[in-house]
Amino acid sequence: MRKFILITAMAVLAFLPLRQAESVDSTQYWMKISAADKFQRSLVADTGVAIEAIADDYVTAVGNLEELKHLRERGLKVDVSFPLTAKMNFPPQDQEFHDYGELTAELRSLESRYPNLVKVFSIGKTVENRDIWAMRISGDLAHADQLPGIIFMAGHHAREHLSVETPLRIWMNLLERYANGDERVRRLIDGRDIHFIPAVNPDGLEYDIEGGRYHMWRKNRRLNADGTYGIDLNRNYGYKWGTGGASASPGSETFRGPTPFSEPETQAVKNHIEAHQNITVLLSFHTFSKLILYPWGWSYDGVENARDKAVHETMAKKMAEWNGYTPQQSSELYVSSGDTNDWSYGEYKMISFTFELDPASMWNGGFYPGAGVIPEVVNKNTEPVLYLLEYADNPYRVLEADPVF
Ligand SMILES: [Zn+2]
Repeated sequence: MRKFILITAMAVLAFLPLRQAESVDSTQYWMKISAADKFQRSLVADTGVAIEAIADDYVTAVGNLEELKHLRERGLKVDVSFPLTAKMNFPPQDQEFHDYGELTAELRSLESRYPNLVKVFSIGKTVENRDIWAMRISGDLAHADQLPGIIFMAGHHAREHLSVETPLRIWMNLLERYANGDERVRRLIDGRDIHFIPAVNPDGLEYDIEGGRYHMWRKNRRLNADGTYGIDLNRNYGYKWGTGGASASPGSETFRGPTPFSEPETQAVKNHIEAHQNITVLLSFHTFSKLILYPWGWSYDGVENARDKAVHETMAKKMAEWNGYTPQQSSELYVSSGDTNDWSYGEYKMISFTFELDPASMWNGGFYPGAGVIPEVVNKNTEPVLYLLEYADNPYRVLEADPVF
């Protein structure tokens, strides 16, 4: 027993300096900050903190000590702040979430069950050399490039496990419905070229659950020049990169990276989309807040083309009828630049959406609402996915079919 204590003590001592060095840069704080409108929220976002939830007169955010200082220097009122040291154990019910190994196995299993409908392949390697998987779904895989294309993405942010789980299970269900002869699902899958990247940031996803506890991690796992880790992949896309609401500071939750597309993960997405010019519609899944967002994020102005603006608004409003989320332009929350939607719409004129899935707030579980929410979230987001498939041949049709304006 004494020997055991000695070994334990030595192990702790050996471990200590490392932990301390790490904690100097990486301690994240949860904050509640007074902010009454999108302009004040943009001031908050500009300090580099990641805003996680918005109420009428305040936001909650996660950031480091330096950013906390900047907030106060700019006269912003921080009502509450405390370090995030929560070491939650993986609750037993959360075993239902797919980790990277289980995700890989699930995709392979779908491919072997539906060989005529599904093809799984890697679009590139991450910083830590993991494959970034893509699943392509079509009733005519051999000629899919000739069909209207649509892309679904998830898991840009490590701790947003529900964003990976939801579209994965939607596709598991839709493939089963196809096999069971559901005519609408058959028509849509047969007539479309569907791309699905379930985990853009698998390194982060794995790190966030390392050791059987949650780490509240957001970014990828790049070792930055100053010893901190991670780049915010949803601030690293190349359209209007670095123009606001994206930090230049490596330790920040919203660090945009040294250059646009500096990261292998965003580079892989870029290469994949560039190779498939038939893609007309994009949906990126995130958590949380129950929102349907569309461009612009970098500017308070709406997209300049009136028809494009109307298509985004009409589709977002329609999808909200099914999932009950709030449809709005991304910068209504606060300005942020370098995200997926600004790039996919700005560069390629894809009709582009981001879903911030359940829950509504930090008080309903935030990033970790538990696996119990999965069935309901999958269920209410299935119809929006089918709706986007329906109109991927020509999204402008929604202006005729459902003339809101
Ligand atoms: Zn996110």
